[in-house]
Amino acid sequence: MLEGKVNITGRCLCGGVEVTASQASKSISACHCGMCRRWTGGALLLVDCGEQVSIKGGDYIALHQTSAVGERAFCAECGSGLYYHYFDNGHYFVPAGLFEFDGFSLDQQIFIDEKPPYYQFSSSTIDSTGKEFCQRRHGADTIEVLDNYRT
Ligand SMILES: [Zn+2]
Ligand SMILES: [Zn+2]
Repeated sequence: MLEGKVNITGRCLCGGVEVTASQASKSISACHCGMCRRWTGGALLLVDCGEQVSIKGGDYIALHQTSAVGERAFCAECGSGLYYHYFDNGHYFVPAGLFEFDGFSLDQQIFIDEKPPYYQFSSSTIDSTGKEFCQRRHGADTIEVLDNYRT
């Protein structure tokens, strides 16, 4: 797992939105949950950017709340996924592909139990099922809670 934070700026496909994170983690996670796969077309590679995120091009941003705990933002012009924002701690998780930064390390896979069999990553990762992930993050242990806590 890579320690340390980086200051990075990413952008959407059309360039209308720029996301700058001053405290982005170099250690990233892949989420295989059905929502992320539907949102992106595949596993979502997420950068934990913490709360220190500034966004240019707010007029382009459209929001879609997918669960009780967070919302997803996308560019209304080009459709690029921009971030997942947790309501409770204010953290922004930004798709790694927005950044032209190749110093990330894929260290973790979550919702591994929802991963379809037709792809897999060869990186050495710590893997969690959706339930394990939710328990670690929220102490939640019921399936109803799981449904509300998808990332
Ligand atoms: Zn755009
Ligand atoms: Zn997900």
